[in-house]
Amino acid sequence: MIPAAFEYHVPTSLPEATALLARYGDDAKVLSGGQSLIPMMKLRLATPRHLVDINRIPGLASLREADGVLTIGALCRESELEEAELIRTRYPILVDTCRVIADPLVRNLATVCGNLAHGDPANDHPATMLALAAELVAVGPGGERRVPAAAFFTGPFATALAGDEILTEIRIPTPPPRSGGAYVKLERKVGDFATAAVAAQVTLAPGGTCGRAGIGLTNVGPTPIQARRAEAFLTGKRLEDGVIKEAARLAAEESQPVSDLRGPAEYKRDLVRVLAARALRKALARAGGGR
Ligand SMILES: Cc1cc2nc3c(=O)[nH]c(=O)nc-3n(C[C@H](O)[C@H](O)[C@H](O)COP(=O)(O)OP(=O)(O)OC[C@H]3O[C@@H](n4cnc5c(N)ncnc54)[C@H](O)[C@@H]3O)c2cc1C
Repeated sequence: MIPAAFEYHVPTSLPEATALLARYGDDAKVLSGGQSLIPMMKLRLATPRHLVDINRIPGLASLREADGVLTIGALCRESELEEAELIRTRYPILVDTCRVIADPLVRNLATVCGNLAHGDPANDHPATMLALAAELVAVGPGGERRVPAAAFFTGPFATALAGDEILTEIRIPTPPPRSGGAYVKLERKVGDFATAAVAAQVTLAPGGTCGRAGIGLTNVGPTPIQARRAEAFLTGKRLEDGVIKEAARLAAEESQPVSDLRGPAEYKRDLVRVLAARALRKALARAGGGR
């Protein structure tokens, strides 16, 4: 329960932080909320020799909507997202997601960006970011680049971030009118990681058909999964119950669960079908003005 020795760095600017990461390479890790990294260090599953704490860097805690984009900065905590009036009224899918992550104590420290950067396929925000077509901003010594969420998760606990890059911002396109989203998770007990979970976001076209659908799956594969076939099936159709059921079946087909302590693979695949239908129905209701 005691981490291996490490050197603790507290940079006060992004260039200073990325220079430290570049200097120490594989021996360094970014520390944000510490809610995944510190437990792993205590269990000696991670033994970084250098921790680069980004909590003292000004300007990284943004949470704002401007110019058609919702921006969530690297130091925005889960609890801030959950409680913000902007998020409660305009992005209920994000509130759904935050509320099923761990417990309030963890959420007071854990950051949304850390939840993505950790690359854990069991984490909840990645699927939601896939459904919302978010873009992730990475800053390194060479400057800034933007990575679509769809290209960010590259393997179990692996992301497109280079070792000397910091995820500074999540950018979510503001959903057009008549949009709605929902995140639905089954967990064995409150605070647990998902047995399976589904994020769904829909936008209705003027004629009432589905203009865009985004579907992300949690903990049913080596990475979070974007259910592209289900999304394509929904687009252009009226979201009647038979259509929703078929899309949910396609999403289940796209999942890649394995059997483990949370249940057999076949059970999890069927769970994706059930949760996808629930998430889509809730997203549709919200697109129509419901809660
Ligand atoms: C008891 C418990 C239960 C939990 N249950 C859930 C759950 O149900 N669902 C869920 O989604 N999560 C759960 N978590 C995980 C929690 O949400 C994590 O805190 C979160 O995933 C990581 O965010 P963090 O800010 O704490 O990151 P840290 O722990 O500081 O870092 C995690 C990893 O990401 C890297 N990193 C962090 N921030 C950045 C950045 N800005 N740029 C580049 N790299 C970065 C670090 O180097 C490290 O490798 C749980 C955690 C605990 C302790």
